[in-house]
Amino acid sequence: RAKADGKNLYRFFDAAMNTLSDQRFVLLKDLRKAVKKDELRLYYQPKVNLHTGELVGAEALVRWQHPERGLLTPVDFIELAEETGQIVDIGNWVLREACKQCKAWHLAGHENLEIAVNLSSVQFTRGTLEKEVVKALTQAGLEGCHLELELTESLLLGDAENVRCQLSDLRRHGVSFSIDDFGTGYSNLGYLSKFHLESLKIDQSFVRKMLDSKQDLNIIIAIINIANSLGLATVAEGIEDALELERLTELGCDLGQGYYWSKPLAAEAFSELIQRINGSVTHLADHAPKAR
Ligand code: C2E
Ligand code: MG
Ligand code: MG
Ligand code: MG
Repeated sequence: RAKADGKNLYRFFDAAMNTLSDQRFVLLKDLRKAVKKDELRLYYQPKVNLHTGELVGAEALVRWQHPERGLLTPVDFIELAEETGQIVDIGNWVLREACKQCKAWHLAGHENLEIAVNLSSVQFTRGTLEKEVVKALTQAGLEGCHLELELTESLLLGDAENVRCQLSDLRRHGVSFSIDDFGTGYSNLGYLSKFHLESLKIDQSFVRKMLDSKQDLNIIIAIINIANSLGLATVAEGIEDALELERLTELGCDLGQGYYWSKPLAAEAFSELIQRINGSVTHLADHAPKAR
């Protein structure tokens, strides 16, 4: 009896595993065609200067409009795209689209807006990143100083010399760099002074807990201190309510993003938003479509 159960259990797992790899396989096949079939979309989340209340720009966040599964978020496909190298094509598309969109805002009269783009460490393995960034900027007619590239901590801790070279090549075109999800990665902070960085983005997990947990609040304070002493700006991610915003502003955090102002928006919705608020986010929270 036990044996039979074991066999059934095995069959069950076997079937489950097959289904899983089948799903991955199908998704992978679809993902290969996603760029060509024009199924990727960029959403834009406002970035706010906490000192002045001004809108400074947006972070571009990729989505996949899957023909059968609907709008997929990065959690559904970025890991697969990184494992298979598809992230390089996707990332290049994101760079081009984001630069084009930022230029469109400039042409619509919002010349100061900046665009932030997330990079995967896989995009540094081909040696073609600089060329792709320059292509995206040139095609869009956008100056490099309006583009910020978001890097992961693990990238800077990996093949540091190779990455440092690529970053300094990119820097010559005026682009800047920030570290995403700061505080969740490694405790070795020595790398921070080795790279020319603009800002640290405080991971939203700390912001989420800062009002209830003294420890998480202290981590935020520590990150702001590190950033200040290295001359870097701080960006708080995932601000959802007024009290979090108030505390972070008091602590001297420079910039913020979060559902408090707006969830990520499709290009048209973001453009409407900037027309309405005309540069100031003082009332953005009242105007923005509500979160989720
Ligand atoms: P991230 O770069 O840290 O982006 C912030 C994520 O937090 C976004 O999720 C955003 O929608 C979400 N978020 C923003 N404000 C709030 C808030 O107030 N509350 C909560 N709960 N969430 C908030 P999203 O768009 O699902 O992206 C997830 C991750 O996928 C990103 O994290 C980034 O690491 C990655 N990703 C997104 N777009 C790209 C891309 O074009 N290339 C690469 N390589 N990765 C990307
Ligand atoms: Mg990011
Ligand atoms: Mg983040
Ligand atoms: Mg993240």
